[in-house]
Parts: sequence; structure tokens; C-alpha cells
Amino acid sequence: MTDLAQFRPDQDYCVYCHKPAAGRCAICHALVCADCCELQDGLIRPLALCMKCTGIRPRPGRMLLVWLLVTACFLIALLAVFLLLSSA
Ligand SMILES: [Zn+2]
Ligand SMILES: [Zn+2]
Repeated sequence: MTDLAQFRPDQDYCVYCHKPAAGRCAICHALVCADCCELQDGLIRPLALCMKCTGIRPRPGRMLLVWLLVTACFLIALLAVFLLLSSA
């Protein structure tokens, strides 16, 4: 059972879940594992961002989704008004 007792003090751990870290966040340089970071497209290579920094910087894709939802809600409201007016 020496394997279980083995301790590696030079091992870096994820700041969120304390698993062995895979790398550092591109913005705040916090140590994160593969589960707690999100890969985003960078100019040269993909950037790994921690959960905190992905919250600070919303992805363009997410913004597009919000805009689509806002547009859809607006169209539905417009349709409801149109139906109300045409039924009266
Ligand atoms: Zn983690
Ligand atoms: Zn970060």
C-alpha cells in the first residue's frame, strides 16, 4: 500500500476541485484541471480559461444566443399583439 501513501508535494493542484492541474488560466494564471477550464479560440492557439474568467468574459457564441432569444421574444410579442388586433 505504498502507492496510496505516496505524496508528491511538487504536484500542482486545481484551485477549484484539487485534482492534479492540467495548466494555468490564460487570464488570472490560476492552476486548473481539464474539468474546470474552458478552451476558447485564441489568435494563435486555444486559450484555457478558468471558471471565474469564463464568467467575466462571456463568449461571443453566448452573446449571440442571448440576442437570438431577445429577438425571438420580441417577435413572439409582436405576433401576439398582431393576433389580438386582428381578432378584435
Ligand atoms: Zn478542477
Ligand atoms: Zn482565470
